[in-house]
Amino acid sequence: MSQERACPVCHSRSYARFADERIDPARVGALTYASRKPPEFMCLRLVRCLGCDLVYAPTPPAEDFLQAAYSEADFDSGPEALAAAHTYAAALGPHVQALAGRNAAVDVGAGSGPLLPYLQAQGFAPVIGIEPSRAAIEAAPPATRAMLREGMFSAALLDGEQVSLITSFMTLEHMRDPGTFVATAHGLLEAGGAIAVVVHDWRAPLNRLLGLRSPIIDVEHMQLFSPRALRELLQRAGFERIALQPIRNAYPLRYWLRLTPLPAGAKGLLLRLLERLGLADRQVALKVGNMLAVGVKPR
Ligand SMILES: [Zn+2]
Repeated sequence: MSQERACPVCHSRSYARFADERIDPARVGALTYASRKPPEFMCLRLVRCLGCDLVYAPTPPAEDFLQAAYSEADFDSGPEALAAAHTYAAALGPHVQALAGRNAAVDVGAGSGPLLPYLQAQGFAPVIGIEPSRAAIEAAPPATRAMLREGMFSAALLDGEQVSLITSFMTLEHMRDPGTFVATAHGLLEAGGAIAVVVHDWRAPLNRLLGLRSPIIDVEHMQLFSPRALRELLQRAGFERIALQPIRNAYPLRYWLRLTPLPAGAKGLLLRLLERLGLADRQVALKVGNMLAVGVKPR
């Protein structure tokens, strides 16, 4: 069918069924396109590419719909966003140390910018966060807000900066064309510069176990990577020395509870129990099926 897009990583058109469309129009609200909201278990029709192992929606919403949805999305993060940035900064540490350049660092899908102070502390200058949601930018502390640029990622937003590092965490699933994103990133980076991305791994044991109840099954996700698909994405753009690793996310227990597929009543009970025990804000690090990939642009 010519209406369907080819695999956005390897351009193959042969696929196997993965999940049928489940969309409840009554529930497609402002929160649907916000990050870290309670899982809704709605999804586009998904297939698995037989060429590269990517799971993707062959008929995603149009680009202008997505742009509007994200720019108007409510912002529902705060402490969780900070905890996530902490996790990513820790995983990124050794890769940043190995990187020679300290020109611009650009975080794509920066949200309220929790990673930006870390990048600044690592000596990158300037530090730039790109974020389509105005609500997210307005939620940033003033010093961070000054580093945020509103919009979808494009070379034009960076007006000729020398770029040493491009990061993008939990954003590639939301892009209509992740191949173009990594190719653009490769073009912008200086020789020896690096890209670092964190994505869900649909092949991770927890995600396989939860199946269609996994939080990665989400109407916003236009593709889901496996280690093989992610490596292929970076290789095709010309990145080398690609390193992949699972990462542990540290969050308060109350947030883990929110992500579970339990009924709302049970969640409420458990949350009150955790609060009474004084455990609701206890940080717990778990491998929940997310992976970090870093690739270097050859000199
Ligand atoms: Zn493919």
